[in-house]
Amino acid sequence: MKINQVGVIGAGQMGNGIAHVFALAGYQVLLHDSSFEAAFTGFQSIEKNMNKLIDLEKLTIDQKKEALSRISIKRRLPELGESDLIIECAVENEDVKNSIFEEIQNYLGEDTLLTTNTSSISITRLGAKTDRPERFMGFHFMNPVPQMKLVELVRGIATGDMIYEELKKVVKTLGKTHTSSEDFPGFIVNRILMPMINEAIYALYEGVGNVESIDKSMKLGANHPMGPLELADFIGLDTCQSIMEVLHNGLGDTKYLPCPLLKKYVEAKWLGKKKMRGFYDYHFDPKQPTR
Ligand code: NAD
Repeated sequence: MKINQVGVIGAGQMGNGIAHVFALAGYQVLLHDSSFEAAFTGFQSIEKNMNKLIDLEKLTIDQKKEALSRISIKRRLPELGESDLIIECAVENEDVKNSIFEEIQNYLGEDTLLTTNTSSISITRLGAKTDRPERFMGFHFMNPVPQMKLVELVRGIATGDMIYEELKKVVKTLGKTHTSSEDFPGFIVNRILMPMINEAIYALYEGVGNVESIDKSMKLGANHPMGPLELADFIGLDTCQSIMEVLHNGLGDTKYLPCPLLKKYVEAKWLGKKKMRGFYDYHFDPKQPTR
């Protein structure tokens, strides 16, 4: 099958990153968000991120113009109906994702591939509620999408070979590499990464170290490019909490309970970099730890 047009649902940090890489790879992109303002801000982020690539001489002004001209913002979800491939990137909430699929599937062609960028929710369960479980799959990009090389391909029980083979080819056209994961909570990356981040938040909660010493320890002591608390802010603390809840509910082990301090930050709406405050306060330059 030929994939030309890609519908991206949700224009937050992942959705706009995904729109960015698909447009640069020559696909037509239809970008939708339930908030028109978020869709517009998402488009502005794409432009800003492409400008950074121009400064680094990784992109020309003409390439940017062409790529941006391939992205159109769509106010209504049904306007994504003509897509060959749908990538759902709305918030990490199963009910929200189910209601998006329930609506969009009424407008899609029979062969359209339906995918989700979920970080942790069961692909089998999400797919079973759609009209096309054999053409439904997890298409898990990493943050920030333009920079990160990996895409995790996650097959649900009912996912057919056709979509899997097709998405492997798509990943290649984006200049990225895929890994294949079975459909268990958190897949591969978040099954390993998120408990480490949650443990770092426990270390902060219990006073083992402050924000700076925890991050510095893991950067200099374990050679991580970013400290775990900085990384949590980057991912979004609401997303981190949702992933821990999915791991806990899906695997049933109390070791996956989200740290009470993480929940407290989410209650305060200190959600990390996207809200300018999390374990660091980004109103300052350089950023200041909040504990
Ligand atoms: P985000 O909060 O930056 O953006 C989510 C967007 O979804 C918002 O713009 C919101 O307006 C929109 N939205 C909410 N309900 C919607 C609906 N019904 N229809 C359309 N749009 C809707 O979140 P994000 O970090 O971009 O995460 C999006 C998805 O990607 C989640 O499933 C998350 O788990 C996954 N993911 C996140 C990361 C990460 O590091 N943040 C990495 C990989 C995957």
